[in-house]
Amino acid sequence: MTPISQTQKKTDLLALTLPQLQEWLKERGEAPFRAKQIYNWLFRQLVNDFSAMSNLPQSLRQRLSEEACIGPTVIRSELHSKDDRTRKILLELSDGKLVESVLMLYPPIGESSSRATVCVSSQAGCAFGCTFCATGQMGFDRHLSAGEIVAQVLFFARELQAAPWTAAGLPGSAPIDHITNIVLMGMGEPLHNYTNVLQALRILNSSDGFNLGARHMTVSTVGLAPAIRKLSQENLQINLAISLHAPTDELRSQTMPVNRKYPLTELLAACKDYIATTKRQVTFEYVLLSGVNDTAEYAEKLAALLAPLKQFAHVNCIPVNATSASYQTPGPDAIRAFRNILFERGISNSVRAERGDDIAAAACGQLRTRFENSRKTAAIPVVSQ
Ligand code: SF4
Repeated sequence: MTPISQTQKKTDLLALTLPQLQEWLKERGEAPFRAKQIYNWLFRQLVNDFSAMSNLPQSLRQRLSEEACIGPTVIRSELHSKDDRTRKILLELSDGKLVESVLMLYPPIGESSSRATVCVSSQAGCAFGCTFCATGQMGFDRHLSAGEIVAQVLFFARELQAAPWTAAGLPGSAPIDHITNIVLMGMGEPLHNYTNVLQALRILNSSDGFNLGARHMTVSTVGLAPAIRKLSQENLQINLAISLHAPTDELRSQTMPVNRKYPLTELLAACKDYIATTKRQVTFEYVLLSGVNDTAEYAEKLAALLAPLKQFAHVNCIPVNATSASYQTPGPDAIRAFRNILFERGISNSVRAERGDDIAAAACGQLRTRFENSRKTAAIPVVSQ
């Protein structure tokens, strides 16, 4: 079915695969070969205005402006960190719902080249209510369409295209002028919005358009076991990350209500099936909360839990955000000790590098909450493109 943007009743072209766009044109008596030209304008030239599509006949451009749109484009707020390595936007959707997206810029380090990663939202609000998450406290509004997911990536792609980013203090490092990675780790649970998320990934992956390699895409889930199994059948080489955060049901259920529906045995069985089908490593995200889940005892439990997955399990240790009111960040010694136990038990692991800037510390969902609170009391400057 052709996706229609909700209030404008126009077809959002960012939500269409190339064959769907060909079909859409055919239904209107237009030549299907125009679809490739339009795709090129949308995903390579990154235009967001039909009048700029200079190789299309004027009549088609007119028709497109009457019957189609290019995703949501209203940005209600944009923050850049002082070092400009993190940029956060609040995107307004056609029905007024607000979602956050973040661009993280990484200069080249050693062998690894520079990266520009977009953290994308998949839902307005979230139904899963994790206690450590600002989005989880908002409740669920709705799923995002594929076009609304794609639009977040294209916003930052246009920004980098217009002004490539160079790491300050790193002379000689090549400017980054395009998006290199996306992570579905923003607002919402991506596998709860399975169809639209998969559609968005396939659109961004299309070699006729944005051409972002599947290995540069990561889907992060709280652990919806049936959807993990379904994902293993998609024949997409994307990365799967599981928000684990605790190695026992008792502890995990305290912060992640979803664990009561899909307890650890069920989640790990789904991961095992996923690995057996895809032969791909799974990353387990583990937020380290001082004195809560970072003790030697929990490190041993975590190693035992993941041991059956062998080299296909990788743990990403994330020291909790220092701004969190209820939790303390563990010190470097505690982090090292925790990781060493995992290493000794043969579990590969890494620690998420601190970005050390002013807005990265603001957790997902906080910008929207702040905006909505201040909207009640004062007018906010609006930036739109
Ligand atoms: S952590 Fe993810 S799944 Fe949990 S409430 Fe927040 S957005 Fe939802």
